[in-house]
Amino acid sequence: MKEGREIFKVTGEPEDTSKIKEHDAWARFREGKKDSRLREFLDTIDFELLRSLFLEAARKSGVNPETLNFVSADGIFGKSGSLLEPLGAYSGSRNIVALSMRKMEDRFGVEGKDLDTVALSTLCHEEVHATAKTICIGLGSEAEQAGYQRTMESATGRLEKRFLLFNEGVTEKLCRQILEEYVERTHFADSQGMNRLRDLFREKHPYESLVEFVDLFIDRVSAETEVSRDLVWQAIIRGAYEGERFDDPELQQLFSELLTPDFIELLSQNKISDLRGKLTKSREKTPTNSFKTNGMNAPRRENEGRLRKWLKTLLPTSL
Ligand SMILES: [Zn+2]
Repeated sequence: MKEGREIFKVTGEPEDTSKIKEHDAWARFREGKKDSRLREFLDTIDFELLRSLFLEAARKSGVNPETLNFVSADGIFGKSGSLLEPLGAYSGSRNIVALSMRKMEDRFGVEGKDLDTVALSTLCHEEVHATAKTICIGLGSEAEQAGYQRTMESATGRLEKRFLLFNEGVTEKLCRQILEEYVERTHFADSQGMNRLRDLFREKHPYESLVEFVDLFIDRVSAETEVSRDLVWQAIIRGAYEGERFDDPELQQLFSELLTPDFIELLSQNKISDLRGKLTKSREKTPTNSFKTNGMNAPRRENEGRLRKWLKTLLPTSL
């Protein structure tokens, strides 16, 4: 059984479990105290329930829930030197989550209970990062793989974060699903509070357009394969938990033919706004390009099979 968070030595062998535990404990010790507002928020969270919702989402998408690396309250801190994400962050190398209540307050202009709801959402987002596939090469090194995102050296020696925006869109979409389930179970916020949160996010959330892109991608794959949107979404979740790399040349070719040329390459380069335009346009141009309604077109039927094959490798149930 492969753990969701894997740490390797630079020589390639898996790092000793005892060394990883020691390193993680030291990271927590160094982070020190939490500010009182964060502590107040964390005290209201039912971490056991939250964890069970993540396990359920993983199980539903065919991932072994025992591999999930969920971070409990003792691994969550306030400000943290090198964690620069504005609202929150997850460090794969140290296995800790940072949440900045002050930044959430400033960014969304909320306080009191509404600030708690925003913080719950940020917490869920960072827990998706924590539970998604994480691979670090060298103890203490930042993650080389985080969900779909991969940090790679370019030809010029610069570090590039490939699939960063797709990964953030998938992360935020799963975060919102878990958030809704958690609120339904606990009544953490009332319906007006949740409506205010949705309005706020539509207006101000930095990843709003990325979630819309993931929805558009799901719509297209679902339309091209005639596999339900829900199953396509389960396949995408499983890809994040298993670290799908999209590096199969046949798969790259297939997405190029079905969706838009160089789809995977553009996705890896985070050209989300370019792709959004292309995905919408190419679909409008060929509104009847569903394979079943296009029986004359043999190559299309063949492609449908290949795309369904990709989904099948990621789905728990056979199509
Ligand atoms: Zn994120």
